[in-house]
Amino acid sequence: MAHFSEIIGHKEIIRTLNTSLNEAKVGHAYLFTGPAGIGKKTLARAFAARLLCHENSAAPDCRCPGCLGIRTNSHPDLITVLPDGNSIKIEQLRQLQYDLFLRPLLGTRKVCFIPDAELLTEAAANSFLKTLEEPPPGVVFLFTAVRADLILATIRSRCQVFQLFPVPIAEIAAALVKKGFDEAEAFEKAKISQGIPGKVLTGSERPAEKLLELKEVISLSLLDLFKVANDLEKKERRYITDLFKNWEIQARRELISAPDRGLDSGRIKGLISILEKIRRTIEMLESNVNLRLALEEFFLTLKTS
Ligand SMILES: [Zn+2]
Repeated sequence: MAHFSEIIGHKEIIRTLNTSLNEAKVGHAYLFTGPAGIGKKTLARAFAARLLCHENSAAPDCRCPGCLGIRTNSHPDLITVLPDGNSIKIEQLRQLQYDLFLRPLLGTRKVCFIPDAELLTEAAANSFLKTLEEPPPGVVFLFTAVRADLILATIRSRCQVFQLFPVPIAEIAAALVKKGFDEAEAFEKAKISQGIPGKVLTGSERPAEKLLELKEVISLSLLDLFKVANDLEKKERRYITDLFKNWEIQARRELISAPDRGLDSGRIKGLISILEKIRRTIEMLESNVNLRLALEEFFLTLKTS
């Protein structure tokens, strides 16, 4: 989990959060908004780590039980609520409210982290408004969402809202240099990022996992593709977007080499159409369309047109 000092950009927000920590003026609920990859979840997690530090220490290597719990990913008072399928459901929040009313186990605070808060169903959101307004002592809610207007007003109005803006290219370049890129390459990559650190930094931070190849996907039956959709649905939206971007590269590569491989015009047209479908899906994924819907539509049109 990242520490405030390791976050790329968003210095103003971090300063404000630090001030509230140092002056013991921490609020009940925070909402961080911004496009995918801007760093809102990373920032929220780093804030959670600071909230749970027993010594309110700004040092990334603090040895208190809170920080150790965070670093080993085992802090019992950090409760993360992830979507169950396509949404965060009322049953999940019932369990959550029960958990929140139990005393913190390690320190004096409990942090409830709800990333993808746009996926809260209205019923679920309404079920815990009272808890959100008057949480048990020490409880802090952290939400993240792509845009504030995707969050129900009843929730939004109870939060301190922080909008994350694109990070200056120079700051992203500096972070890439720290990760071992040479300066020219770092600057080039930073320019491509358009101020979204996640666009150029995910590859080096995420553990390597073998991605499904486009060729395999094309050869699967519709039934098997729906099984793939089931598996993918459980993953983070960004993982899926990256997967589709990878397929886009693979499809382009196929197209470029098509004349050399003597593909006929029918096959080439087929490839162009697949490429278009991939691009359309990426657009859907980036505009926060329902994940399942985007995946199903892609697989269906892949097999039926
Ligand atoms: Zn600590």
